[in-house]
Amino acid sequence: MFNETEYRPTRAIINTAAIKHNAKHLISYLPKETKLIAVVKSDGYGHGVAEAASAALQAGAEMFAVATPDEAMTLRKTQPTADILVLGVSPVSFAAIAAQQRIILTVTSANWVKQVNAQQPFDNKCRIHVKIDSGMGRIGVRTEEELAQLVKCIQQSSLAIDGVFTHFSRADEEDREPTRRQFERFMHLVNCLPKKPRLVHASNSAGALLFPDYALDAVRFGIGLYGIPPSDTVAKQLPFKLERALTIETEVAYVKKMTAGEKISYGGSYEAAEGEWIATLPIGYADGLKRSLDGQEVLIDGKRVPIVGTICMDQCMIRLPCEYPEGEKVVLIGKQGNEEIVIEEWSERLHTIPYEVAVTFSTRIPRIYT
Ligand SMILES: *Cc1c(COP(=O)(O)O)cnc(C)c1O
Repeated sequence: MFNETEYRPTRAIINTAAIKHNAKHLISYLPKETKLIAVVKSDGYGHGVAEAASAALQAGAEMFAVATPDEAMTLRKTQPTADILVLGVSPVSFAAIAAQQRIILTVTSANWVKQVNAQQPFDNKCRIHVKIDSGMGRIGVRTEEELAQLVKCIQQSSLAIDGVFTHFSRADEEDREPTRRQFERFMHLVNCLPKKPRLVHASNSAGALLFPDYALDAVRFGIGLYGIPPSDTVAKQLPFKLERALTIETEVAYVKKMTAGEKISYGGSYEAAEGEWIATLPIGYADGLKRSLDGQEVLIDGKRVPIVGTICMDQCMIRLPCEYPEGEKVVLIGKQGNEEIVIEEWSERLHTIPYEVAVTFSTRIPRIYT
């Protein structure tokens, strides 16, 4: 099953067994009653939503979370029965479709509910989770009054409260106090509800891994599902080993021996020394190998070698310790021999977090599943 993008040897290899491992270990680590909500937004953090969701489900996930209504509709095609929660605010006009597709929406504003009520009533109620802002400052009601008003509107609508949740902003940090305060604030507001909803949930990956006492009815496990620790602080305190699901690999396209002073790439940005071997790789910034990653190492024959010269749109050059044949395997992210390059090495170089790197590999790189 090759499509036109798969003739190039540049590929993302996704190890679905790693996703299953991470999901299973989290489930056995958390209290028995806690359900796993697999967060598969942004195409499963770049790993492919259909396959990531399927692996998580096989490992015991009970529900999925995505960011947008469109992502929910895409996931619905491969998951016809599972519960899907949209984490962001959906347009009012999507509520009728959500009701019909059994997609669960996040509700945060009484005004939004009033606008839904102004539409034709749905045949089946649309299930919703009420969002409480306990300190993230993004979406959610913040006070008892706002919550009471929202609940009153929902009770007179074709919406049914299935859950209530909040989001931690600092669960990946050394200082546990901000998260403790958020949890307390959240539980206070949850206790103001007329009735406990089916699912009360608060934790993201960092929360689930470092605050098992806050697991409640469910945790929303995103980055950890793919084997990436949310931060260095979390990485140092992992309750079980996470297995990384993503490998980015390619093959040497061209090899040449340089003479002293010859230049490499746009702007003549690298000058070779006499006798250096330079290889060209068929991967560039259009694939997600950001231009500012020049100097980053890649793995060839189990050894680290640097990218030299400016990274081009579709290609880049590396400096070899000796001659290697064209077609030699190169790993940009992942393991080769005893060496490993993790996604955090890129994110540090790019002054960002591994989340951002994971979601920026372009669709031009085919995802291959093992
Ligand atoms: C993205 C997201 C998550 C998952 O966060 P991770 O840190 O990747 O586990 C959970 N909840 C909400 C509301 C989110 O937006």
